[in-house]
Amino acid sequence: MRISAQAIWNGCDTPHPGRIAILDGRIEQVLPPGPADLDLGEAILCAGFVNAHLHLDLSLPRPTETMVGSFDDWLRSVVEARQHLGEDGLTIQAAIGAEETLAGGTTAVFDIDPAGHSITALTDSPLRRLILREVISVNSQPGVDLDALGHFLGGAHDPSRELRGISPHSSYTVHPELLAKLLPWCREQGAPWAMHVAEPTWERQLLVDGRGEGARFLEGFGADPASFRRGHTMIEALRESGDLTRQSLIIHGNECSDDELAAIGESGSALVWCPRSHAFFGRAPHPAPRAAEEGLEVLLGTDGKVSAGTLSMLDEMGAARAAAADLDIETIWKMAIVHPRQWLARAGHPDLLGCGTLQPGDPADLVAVSIPEGDGPLLERALAGEVIASWIDGRALQPEMLGDAQ
Ligand SMILES: [Zn+2]
Repeated sequence: MRISAQAIWNGCDTPHPGRIAILDGRIEQVLPPGPADLDLGEAILCAGFVNAHLHLDLSLPRPTETMVGSFDDWLRSVVEARQHLGEDGLTIQAAIGAEETLAGGTTAVFDIDPAGHSITALTDSPLRRLILREVISVNSQPGVDLDALGHFLGGAHDPSRELRGISPHSSYTVHPELLAKLLPWCREQGAPWAMHVAEPTWERQLLVDGRGEGARFLEGFGADPASFRRGHTMIEALRESGDLTRQSLIIHGNECSDDELAAIGESGSALVWCPRSHAFFGRAPHPAPRAAEEGLEVLLGTDGKVSAGTLSMLDEMGAARAAAADLDIETIWKMAIVHPRQWLARAGHPDLLGCGTLQPGDPADLVAVSIPEGDGPLLERALAGEVIASWIDGRALQPEMLGDAQ
């Protein structure tokens, strides 16, 4: 099958008119303009979006435009929402989230799955996924069941579609003694891992000297804040222990210093930025645009729908653009398409998503975005466009939108 468009984007250069040839679910080659089975016209055609951070089981409507109350209240409300939804409710939310994700042209997700609800919801979904099993334990006992986690890692039904990893939730919700065992274990297993780091403003004080709002937060959960005192920040601790590697993905990093952001880049790790969720929490401007200018590989994620508002990556890219007006537009698109694939390849798993640069042999996971009329670069204009079609393994996900043409 050949699909033509006015703007084929290969993940690095300016888009050009052309065609993508697909054979057996994979990209065969990129061709110059010519006859095609499907002509998309004024549209960008490129590798599908990757949502590098979300919580599918929290695909609830956002209660308000911005957070009401404190971050601690918010975290508690999330715990309560999970309890209220129950087993079936969480699976239904994850399924709703997966549908919305696919409808938005996202072809792969890095999802945090505390208890298997995403796995159940995605059983028959074409969505490619890195499913990260969440670990939360504010006390050192009873410890982490590494046998169970090992079983989880090896349990993907369809390895061409699903990869598994681990997500120690954050530096303040996993006891340091457990992290000290878990992260080297992930390294041995070759398992990618992702952790929320430097998200609340109080994290630094908690980790450096065991005090402050974070200490009170932990006491509320019956934990001993003093045992979380490291004398330095999480990134510094990870660097010192040798656990900051290409297998690790740092989520948020709101409060990271320039040195810490540089350390993330030097280690081969990467940073996930969720601009809409960040805005929801009313935080100070995120350091990601500046870090990206300095060359750090920044990925984009929505975070949960409950804080982002929608699971559309195009919306997320628009928010990233608004927060990073000086960044070149190619970098914004790379955050959603090329960088997540590059990180996963570095983490040891190059085959699941390919490289996002339309290389022959990559999975034919594609998205087409309309280009509204106007001036300016095509990639810039397309941020105000709409997803008109997407494909996974060369199969159209919205065949009704393509009519007879597909
Ligand atoms: Zn999150």
